[in-house]
Formats: sequence, structure tokens, C-alpha cells
Amino acid sequence: MSDGAHLVVVEDEPGISLPLTDRLRREGYRVERAEDGVRGLELARADGVDLVLLDLMLPRLNGSDVLRSLRESGNEVPVICLTARTAEDDRVGHLVAGADDYVTKPFSMDELVARVRAVLKRTVRTGRAAPAADAAPAVVEMDGVRIDLDGHTVERGGVREKLSSLESAILRCLVERRGRATSRTQILRSVWGPYAAVTDRTVDFHVKNLRRKLEPDPTTPRLLLTDHGVGYRIA
Ligand code: CA
Repeated sequence: MSDGAHLVVVEDEPGISLPLTDRLRREGYRVERAEDGVRGLELARADGVDLVLLDLMLPRLNGSDVLRSLRESGNEVPVICLTARTAEDDRVGHLVAGADDYVTKPFSMDELVARVRAVLKRTVRTGRAAPAADAAPAVVEMDGVRIDLDGHTVERGGVREKLSSLESAILRCLVERRGRATSRTQILRSVWGPYAAVTDRTVDFHVKNLRRKLEPDPTTPRLLLTDHGVGYRIA
């Protein structure tokens, strides 16, 4: 099932990282471990990494800084954050906004393994998992923009940009319901699954990034529209 996916665990507490690493290896994953943020970033950036499990409170470099460094450099490796904070904590949405999912400590190993499986299933890597079956066409053209949902690219004015697997999944969800508004909750369920811990803010974060890639002027969107009080809609 696990397909030998390559995982990086970045966690400084041995009481968490050792049992976690053991369990993931028993599930068939290849696991590397880092105990501080600097080493974690180095391992996370390596080629062939399928998923990073990232503690937020780390020595040398915070987990949120590791995440930001990855995303700012265009690295879209899937990340699940391990955090002591919950969604009710105002700061957590901001801290983990670039993450694919997060779990709150203390978490059960079963729960974490389920999250790992869900994220890996959604992540399409070349020559790996097939894209999810769907009703949406793989290529959508509108208003001079060409979106390739399977190829994870968007092309506008001759410039091609990569989409992360999450961005493609969000767009796919919206394209399937093109012309109708999709609520943030629907997007969360469709993209992250029914048990995901991420919140509306995470959806907003990715929509903002998508607009940067899709829209000639992201401040006045014409393609990825907001229906106030309802959700998002593809024109
Ligand atoms: Ca820690």
C-alpha cells in the first residue's frame, strides 16, 4: 500500500520521533529523521522526498520557517505539520497555511498514518500514483489561460507555471462545479477529506496563490471569483 514512499520526520522530541519513525517504517515507508529545523530543511529539499512531517517548535529553525523557506523557493513537497496548537488558536492557521494538513499533539499513531496515506494518495508524482478519477476535463482553457489539471501547470501569456498538487486539486474541485459557487467546506471535504484539521483559512491561502498564477491582476480576479458569504467560483 505504502509503495515505499520516502518520508522525512522533523521532530526534536525523541519521545515522539522514535515511535513515529518505527511505526512509519513498519508501514513500509522509507523514513529519514532530523532533530532540528536546519537539518530538516536540508532533508526536505532533497530529491525524491514524498512527504515531510514537520514539528513547529524546533531548535535552530522553527517549523513554520522551514515551511516558508520551502514554499518561497517553489518547493511543493507535501507537508503535514505536527503542532501543539489547535484550529481554535488564531495563530495556527497562519503558521500552517502552506501545509497540506496538520495534526495536533498529542495525536494517535493511527490518526497520523491515516493522514499520511491521505496526503500521499492525493499527491501525484511522475510515474507514481494515477490522478484521481474525476468528471472534470483535464485541460481547461478560458480567457487566455490554459490549465492542465493532470500536468499540474497553468499557462498565461506564454508563461507556464507549476501548480502544486493541492492547487490542482482545488481547481479541479471548482472546475467540476464551474459557474456555481463552491463553499470552503465543500473544498475542504473534497480536497483534504472529511477528517482534515485544516480550516477555511488554508483554502483562502491556496486560492490567493492560485490567483497569483491565474489572474492578470490578482487583486481584481476575473477567473477565480469570490462569492461573498458563499465561497469560490470559476467564471
Ligand atoms: Ca518540538
